Amino acid sequence: MHFFTIDRAKDRPDPRVLMHRSFYASSLPRVMAVCRLFGHKPVVDGYDSQYGPENRRHARWVACERCGVRPDPQGNLNADRWQLGQPYPGPFNGRHFPKEAAHQLAKRGIPYQTPTQPGPWPAQPTGTLAAEVVVGRAHSTGIGVKVGNPGDEHTLQAHLGLGPLGACYLTSERFGTWVQRRLNNEGFQTREIDLSIHSGRLWWKVWARENEHHASDPKWMDGNVHIDPRHHLLGPRRNRKISETDRMPVTVYMPEGDTHQATVHLEQWQSRRTRGRATTYWMAQWDCEAGIPVRNHEWKGDHTYSCAWQIEHVTPDTERWPYILAAKAAEQCTRDRAHYGYRAPEPAA
Ligand SMILES: [Zn+2]
Repeated sequence: MHFFTIDRAKDRPDPRVLMHRSFYASSLPRVMAVCRLFGHKPVVDGYDSQYGPENRRHARWVACERCGVRPDPQGNLNADRWQLGQPYPGPFNGRHFPKEAAHQLAKRGIPYQTPTQPGPWPAQPTGTLAAEVVVGRAHSTGIGVKVGNPGDEHTLQAHLGLGPLGACYLTSERFGTWVQRRLNNEGFQTREIDLSIHSGRLWWKVWARENEHHASDPKWMDGNVHIDPRHHLLGPRRNRKISETDRMPVTVYMPEGDTHQATVHLEQWQSRRTRGRATTYWMAQWDCEAGIPVRNHEWKGDHTYSCAWQIEHVTPDTERWPYILAAKAAEQCTRDRAHYGYRAPEPAA
């Protein structure tokens, strides 16, 4: 058993967040009372896929139908002879092959073959439980559960978001496998049931695939509805650009001493509902063709090229507005540099 916690509030100090911490309990023994009393119930597990190399499209191994524990080794049965879900009567005499030995063989060009037959059941199956707790302002309002797919390292997940009060996220690895095997033991998709409120809408998911939406999905499965009464009384809100300034050349002076040529401009936007009053606001933007470096990575993506944000108390009538935007660009990039631990290159001798 191994317990540890991580303070998440350190990364992003927000005075409205009183606590943001993750708790982990790993290598916890699993109870599996029925399996301990009566023994495991071996069945054939695996998958059939249309994708990937021909010899990897089908796989069969052995797992317990109740708790999902696999023998070690798990076996590599012939997919033509064994059907998914059929009981596996034995034998269990596959020999355990140490990982290091497999690694040594692979180094010499001899690929390691999983033993065909499954081995003995593990004596002490373990799992992991994790919780993330936010006290104070949280970024979600809603409630939901997720049931992992058979290959998912997260077996079950649940969350409760209470907006300004806080939030709680729970995750299990291997705990809850009995539920997962009953509900979602085919395919590669995690399923979720979720109810949340954001952007003036109520959103729902009913056994929907995680991170995936098909146009053919029925509306009851994945949908949303406006709950802001103004939407129904005054019509939908629309934003449109009504004017913009020329792009003004500026120099961005970074505190590290480097300078960058950029352009800045202001845009005036109008927001109104169909039968409502119009309000206007200003957006500011800077663009730097060469990019301003903000982190030390070897590949591309270590520069920031542009940024747009809503700006208050600055219009084209404000004196020196291009300089104000250039200073803001330096501030934004300085924050990014601090976040990524950027080190300025040594000046050439
Ligand atoms: Zn079992």
